[in-house]
Amino acid sequence: FILPLVMMGLVGAGMLTWVMIGRLKRASSELENREELSRHQALHDALSGLPNRHHFVERLQDALDGLIQSRNNGRVVVAYIDVDRFKDVNDTMGHQAGDALIMAVAQRLSVTLTPSDFLARFGGDEFAVLRRAVSADAAEELAQRLRSAFEDAFDVYGQHVRMTASIGIAMAPDHGASPQELMRHADIALYQGKNQGRDRAMLFCAEMAAEVEQRREIELDLEGAIQSNALHLHYQPLISCNSGKVTGVAALLRWRHPTRGDLSPAMFVPVAEEAGLMPALGTFVLTRAFEEAKLWPDLEVAINLSPVQFRHVDLVDLLKNLLKDHDVDPSRIVLEVTEGVLMESTERNRQILDAVRELGFKIALDDFGTGYSSLRYLCDFRFDKIKIDRAFVTGIHERKRAMTIIQSVVTLGRGLGMDIVAEGVETEAEASVMRLIGVTELQGFFFSHAVPSAKIAELVDAFGRPAADADTARVRREQRA
Ligand code: C2E
Ligand code: CA
Repeated sequence: FILPLVMMGLVGAGMLTWVMIGRLKRASSELENREELSRHQALHDALSGLPNRHHFVERLQDALDGLIQSRNNGRVVVAYIDVDRFKDVNDTMGHQAGDALIMAVAQRLSVTLTPSDFLARFGGDEFAVLRRAVSADAAEELAQRLRSAFEDAFDVYGQHVRMTASIGIAMAPDHGASPQELMRHADIALYQGKNQGRDRAMLFCAEMAAEVEQRREIELDLEGAIQSNALHLHYQPLISCNSGKVTGVAALLRWRHPTRGDLSPAMFVPVAEEAGLMPALGTFVLTRAFEEAKLWPDLEVAINLSPVQFRHVDLVDLLKNLLKDHDVDPSRIVLEVTEGVLMESTERNRQILDAVRELGFKIALDDFGTGYSSLRYLCDFRFDKIKIDRAFVTGIHERKRAMTIIQSVVTLGRGLGMDIVAEGVETEAEASVMRLIGVTELQGFFFSHAVPSAKIAELVDAFGRPAADADTARVRREQRA
C-alpha cells in the first residue's frame, strides 16, 4: 500500500525537479543574454551603436601592450574628432536633428576608415579613432582620411548640412605610453586646432603641452592678481576728426606679472574667459573705470565687455549698482561689444543690450571688420558707434578694396546716426584717409599709446592747444613720446 505512494511521490518529485531544472536553464540562458546585452551596453554608445570611451580605453591598452611586445617600429595612433559648431545645429534645428547628424557622422566615419581602425564615440559631438600602424606616416594618412569624411554635406531629415571638424592626433610611443597620456595629448592637439580657427587636424607636439601648462599657470596667477588688485587700467585717447581734440578714452586692462613682465590682455583675457574668471575680471574693470571716469567729466570712457559677461553676470544689475555708487553720467560710458554677443543666444543678449541702453549707456560695435562683419547687425541693433578694426585701417591708403568697404560702412553707419571710430591709426596717411572717408573719431599710436590715468589730463591739454601746422603737431607728439 505504501509502495505506490512512495513511487508516486518519487515520480512527482522527479517531475518537479525536471520542471525546476528546465526553468533554471531558461533563467540562466536569459541571464546570459542579459549579461551579454549589458556587457554590450557597457561598451557601446546607445545612440550610434559605436564603442564608447570605456571600450576605447580597453582597446587602446591592448594595442599599447602589443606595441611593447612587438619591439619593431610600430605606432599606435589616437585621433580625437570634434564636430565644429555642433551646438548650433542642436540650437537651430532641434535635438532630434542633432541626433540625426551624430548618426550621419558616425556612419560617414565608419565607411571612411579602414576596417582595422577602431572608431568610438565619446558622447556629444566627440569621436575617437584608434589605429595600429607600422610607421609614423599613418598619423598623416589618418588625418587626411578623417578630413575627407567631412567634405560632403550630411543629410539631416532631407536637409543638406555642411559640417567641419577639428581633429587632434597623438601617437605612441612618440607622445606617450599610457592610454591616459595619449588621450590627454590628442585632446590638447584638438584644443589647439579649435583655437586656431577649427576645421583642421593637428598633430600633438611638446610645445603644445608647454603652452597649455603656461595657460594653466597664468590662470592660477590671474586669480591671485584679481584678488590682490595687481591689475590696473590704462587709457588710450580718442581724437575727434572735427576738432582734433580728445573726446574720449578707451580703458585697456594691464597686468604687470611678477615674473613674466607686462602681459597683454589679448593673451590673458581669453584665458580668463575660459577659466571662468571673466565675471570677476570684468566687474573689476567696470568698477575701476567708473571710479576713474570721475577724473574726466568732459570725456567719454569706453569699456570692453566680454561675451562671457552677458552669459554669466547680471550685467544690467551690475551697471545699475555702479551708476548708484559712482554718480557718473551713463551717456559718457561707451560699452564696447563684439558681434559675437549678437550672434549667440540672440534674443537674451539683445534684451540685455536694450536694457543697458535704457539705462542711458552708449553701445559700440567693436572690432568691426574681423568677424563676420555682417551689415545685418548694424541694421538690427541701434549702436551708437562702430569701431573699425585695425586690420582695416593699417595701410588703408594703399588698399583700394579695403577703402571702398570702409567707405560704405561709414556711409551706412552715419546714415543710421552712428559715430565711427577708426582703431589702430599709426600714421598721418592713415589718419588723413579716415578723416576724408568721414570717420568721426581716431584712436591709435599715431596720437598716443594707452597711458596711466594720471597722464590723461596732460594729453587732453596738449591736443586742446591749437596746432599752428603739422610741424607743431609732430613736435607735440615727440614731446609726449
Ligand atoms: P581693443 O579693444 O581693440 O583695443 C585696442 C588694442 O590695440 C589695445 O591693445 C591697444 O593698445 C592696441 N592699439 C591701439 N592703437 C594701436 C596702434 O596704432 N597700433 C597697434 N598695433 N595697436 C594699437 P591691448 O591693450 O593689448 O588690448 C588688446 C585687446 O584686449 C583689446 O582690443 C580688447 O579686445 C581686449 N581688452 C583689453 N582690455 C579689456 C578689458 O578690460 N575687458 C575685455 N573684455 N577685453 C579687454
Ligand atoms: Ca575694443
